[in-house]
Amino acid sequence: MPSLVLSRLVATLFILLVLCRGTEPAVASSNETEAYQLYQQAVALRKANRPVEALNCLNKVLVLKPDWQTYHFIGLLYMEMKRYREAFSPLARAYGLAPAESSTVASAAECYYLLKDPDNAIALCTKYLAKYKTGDSIGTIWQTLGRCYAQKKQFAQSLDAFRNSLKADPTDDFTWQAMCGDLSSDDAAAPQFKSVAPEFLKRFPNDSNAQYYKARLQALDYSQARNRFEDEAVARSKANHQDNVDAFVIVPPQFGGRVSPRFLAIVRQTVHGIPKTIWEPLYAYGYRVHVVPHVVDDFTDRDCNPEDQPRGYKKGATYKNVPALAMPHRKVLIVAQNYLNDEGKEETMKDPDHAMCHELGHAYDEYLGFLSKKMNLSEKYDGFSQSKAFAAAYESDAKKIAGKERETFSYYLQSGKAGQEELFANLFVFLWDNQLVEPGSHDDMTRAKFSNALKSISEARSLDPEYIRLRDLYDSHVKQYK
Ligand SMILES: [Zn+2]
Repeated sequence: MPSLVLSRLVATLFILLVLCRGTEPAVASSNETEAYQLYQQAVALRKANRPVEALNCLNKVLVLKPDWQTYHFIGLLYMEMKRYREAFSPLARAYGLAPAESSTVASAAECYYLLKDPDNAIALCTKYLAKYKTGDSIGTIWQTLGRCYAQKKQFAQSLDAFRNSLKADPTDDFTWQAMCGDLSSDDAAAPQFKSVAPEFLKRFPNDSNAQYYKARLQALDYSQARNRFEDEAVARSKANHQDNVDAFVIVPPQFGGRVSPRFLAIVRQTVHGIPKTIWEPLYAYGYRVHVVPHVVDDFTDRDCNPEDQPRGYKKGATYKNVPALAMPHRKVLIVAQNYLNDEGKEETMKDPDHAMCHELGHAYDEYLGFLSKKMNLSEKYDGFSQSKAFAAAYESDAKKIAGKERETFSYYLQSGKAGQEELFANLFVFLWDNQLVEPGSHDDMTRAKFSNALKSISEARSLDPEYIRLRDLYDSHVKQYK
């Protein structure tokens, strides 16, 4: 902040001039009178922005009366001319004549600071402060120390020094400005900036930087929240792999090499597109998505016969015609790269989006059943689709469907628990994505026809404590953006 530095210099200079007047001898000798006049001439020349001529005057003063004030004045003139290295010699002479004089030390430290040599400035200031606790420029010395530590990115020390400066000189607005300016310049200084910026804004609401500081405070709050959020996500991911799509969606080892990496990536991408509040609880609960060559490849002794007719499928169809399948008893969702189409020809799944969401729906249905038992709800069920609430909603929707429409929605009107389960799985996607289906499509009509069932699913979701936890976390995260 060059303009602030300059104003500091000007201020220092005025202090010096006041000091010099204060030390005028009571009875002036002729040398002293001449020295005084030359000194005043130098002051006037400096004011007239003629520093070189002022220097000439002061060199004459030195011959007559070599006191520390004159050496200091010379040092300050070099500083004003930005000839910082040349300032050291006269400042050192001033310091030699008056080592307790704080303004000399403050000026020399300022030179080091401006030469981007904070180490020497800090050494000089600390040496002085160890010896002297008071002095006209003690606040300035602390403040220079604050700026030098900031230059070294040692922001805790910087803040301490600035605070000491304000203790020594509470009226120095420049210290406030320098402090907030320096501490706002680096993310590493965020804690220090946050501890002083609100006070600054209270004191200087109309400062030219006030708007910027306000925005920065908000940004830091946001980034802190984001960091908390990310830290937690990382911790969760490390502890339970809960944040890891790659661990959720896997190719079981026995199918290695038989599933294309591209297809696996597409399925994982699909899960990435689904809110974590949906799939993370399932993952934590133990579900895994198996990406396999064909659905039946992943069948075990615990599963049904691959040659059986899957429910809701046409006569003659087998599980070889199924592209994706939920196996709640194994906590497995199978997504196949290939399946047989209606003509019995092998097809590759192009877009696993719908299948993925549907099978996740089955898993979530079963998960809500698990929660009903775990949370000891008054009604316990194997799947939410079998609960009294959902059944009532389903019935009220289903009974309005008549005639030809019963054929259209036959998949959801299957007898037993199948109809309710399939409806739950299909409506599930509408919990987060109303854009997913084409307007007027079968899924879209299903949504409209089974509006009570959909409402019931929305309500069921709030049974999930993990969902609530994640939702709150995400909500607070999202709020930071607004
Ligand atoms: Zn299904």
